[in-house]
Amino acid sequence: NYRCRSAFKLLEIDDKHKVLRPGLSVIDCGAAPGAWSQVAVQRVNALGTDPNAPVGFVLGVDLLHIPPLEGAVFLPNADITDPVTLKKIQELLPTERADVILSDMAPNATGIRELDHQKLINLCLTLLDLSQSILRPRGTILCKFWDGRETHLLQNRLMEHFQDVRTIKPQASRKESAEIYYLAKLYNDGVKHQRR
Ligand code: SAM
Repeated sequence: NYRCRSAFKLLEIDDKHKVLRPGLSVIDCGAAPGAWSQVAVQRVNALGTDPNAPVGFVLGVDLLHIPPLEGAVFLPNADITDPVTLKKIQELLPTERADVILSDMAPNATGIRELDHQKLINLCLTLLDLSQSILRPRGTILCKFWDGRETHLLQNRLMEHFQDVRTIKPQASRKESAEIYYLAKLYNDGVKHQRR
């Protein structure tokens, strides 16, 4: 029983692209009400349900309250763009860095499409900045964005820092919705990607 239908998007993406596996350490940005965290807890074996697999870790962050979830640590009432949040994330991570940053964040939509697009792109760019301190080399970011004029800017930035950047439009996203995900794998930790 998932808290929200959004779980099916992450399940679909993960089935296809193998983002999560037992033992990984995951930060779930924009985690409320917690459906993606539920999926992550299962897939990284955060509860040790599979005794033969390594045990992972899930940290959910959101501006809002997130109802408790067994196997996950939550940082509620926290703005990902606030430097204080970064410090708290670093304190809560059991390993120095996470293997995966998930973001299903969405700003409160104004209804002005271009403005909402820009706000969400800026949130994604913030994640990229945070990666420098909290994502391990060869780590992964999966982030939602709304398509628009500045999409290429985010894509370029991701391509500078990750070796493998893909655009994903899950079936489970309703057709009329403009939401898309970037899946960026193999973080190179600030080292410029050698273009071949
Ligand atoms: N993935 C979640 C799930 O499966 O339950 C649903 C996420 S919901 C679509 C988007 C969330 O992003 C909202 O709860 C919102 O509060 C959060 N959010 C938006 N801006 C944020 C920010 N600056 N920092 C942290 N969370 C943010």
